[in-house]
Amino acid sequence: MSPDRTSPAALSKAEFRKVGHYLVDTISDLMDRFGEGPVTTGETANQLQAILGTASLPETGVAADVIMKRAVSLLFNHSLFNGHPKFLGYITSSPAPIGALADLLCAAVNPNVGANILSPMATEIEKQTIRWLAEFIGVSPAYGGILVSGGNMANFTAFLAARTAKAPKSIKEEGISTNHAPLAVYCSKATHAWIEKAAFFFGVGANGIRWIEQDDAGKMRIDMLEQTITRDLQNGSAPIMVIGNAGDVSTGVIDDLKSIGALCKTYNLWFHIDGAYGVPAAVIPKLKNVFAGIEDADSIALDPHKWLYSPLEAGCTLVKDPQTLINTYSTHPVYYNFNSSESQHNYYEYGFQNSRGFRALKVWAALQHIGREGYIQMIGKDIELSQLFFQLATRHPELEAITQNLSITTLRYVPTDMPGDAERKEAYLNTLNEDLLNSLQRKGDVFLSNAVIKGKYCLRGCIVNFRTSEKDIEEIINIIVKEGRKIQMESVNVL
Ligand SMILES: *Cc1c(COP(=O)(O)O)cnc(C)c1O
Repeated sequence: MSPDRTSPAALSKAEFRKVGHYLVDTISDLMDRFGEGPVTTGETANQLQAILGTASLPETGVAADVIMKRAVSLLFNHSLFNGHPKFLGYITSSPAPIGALADLLCAAVNPNVGANILSPMATEIEKQTIRWLAEFIGVSPAYGGILVSGGNMANFTAFLAARTAKAPKSIKEEGISTNHAPLAVYCSKATHAWIEKAAFFFGVGANGIRWIEQDDAGKMRIDMLEQTITRDLQNGSAPIMVIGNAGDVSTGVIDDLKSIGALCKTYNLWFHIDGAYGVPAAVIPKLKNVFAGIEDADSIALDPHKWLYSPLEAGCTLVKDPQTLINTYSTHPVYYNFNSSESQHNYYEYGFQNSRGFRALKVWAALQHIGREGYIQMIGKDIELSQLFFQLATRHPELEAITQNLSITTLRYVPTDMPGDAERKEAYLNTLNEDLLNSLQRKGDVFLSNAVIKGKYCLRGCIVNFRTSEKDIEEIINIIVKEGRKIQMESVNVL
């Protein structure tokens, strides 16, 4: 702090160090003990509000150590920990510790990575991170892109670039009008809900989404895709893009990307891959062939905050031709004297944001700390554990294993001796498993989420967690069965 001005925001060097050391010590203890307590306390919002209190905004400042001690107590004692070895919910990973350190450094330097001049080294680090991500998944390092807040934003960023490239050129100037053919986009029914938001935002409309049937394995049916495209062309719609899933959000299915890419070429459509969850698994040599076709994508969404173990938030849009992002997002207001050139990136010209934080640092740090070998080992282990989860469920007389793809397993609790007709039995099992999931989530010994597969309500475990072990999986099986029996006993909804 300059001696010429004192400020209420100032923190003396001694104080910063004291509070900082306290935080670092406390955090390192917590990370050591993630598995000891529950995954979550299951407290209600009302209980938490009572703990937090209803005090008004303070008029005068409070000492930094007091605030940070309170924050530690509130968060350490009342959070859900996705770093817990038995957290297998949704797709939220255990964060790599180096990411927490990177975020601290990043907040201290505080570069604004919207413009090169405001973030000279941070911009270069982001460019390098993007290049490494392309190398990591095995597409050409000539892909460009941008880091965003997550999978939704990564998909939106690509979607609008696709529309700019493939829809009538007048849209960018005239807006959406009735003068051109209605736009159509194609994806399987397993596609994440971002597609609906994108259709609302970007003028395609919900009716412009063509939900293509899946085959028995859950992949988009290529014959149906082609039929739908040709029918749309005959009927005067304007197809613009096809979205392939590289690990769908619910069960981890990877579409036949090679065939989708080939159809896109034939019909001159943008080929987008939603790999938010699954595409990092392309780093595993023996999975290369399942991801064949990613190198043909015009754009790919991937989420470092999922399988690359970055702390939230970090998503990434990769594009084969970086100029497509410039064509979509670049503007040149008079108040910016930012030079841009091939070598000098202004990231505000590549996506939705203007001022941008330095998300790249935590991704860049983890990629180096873990290395390709490390990721192959970690991602491979997650998949192995998911397969073990599936096998143990298959072998257990009271569990029915349903699906296993990448690191996602779905299963359900099925009591032995279930009489009754098939239809009533299915309805009963759905209620039972929904009650079971809710009960497991409240108790906090394990955190699973759900999937609905061909009408069956399933428990779902997604392992993007380098802290989970074989022992955790064995224990989780026992926890599910024990709770399942209990719920069934208490169930008023007898068969
Ligand atoms: C998680 C996920 C998304 C959404 O990503 P967020 O980071 O939650 O915004 C989109 N698509 C797929 C396939 C996903 O797994």
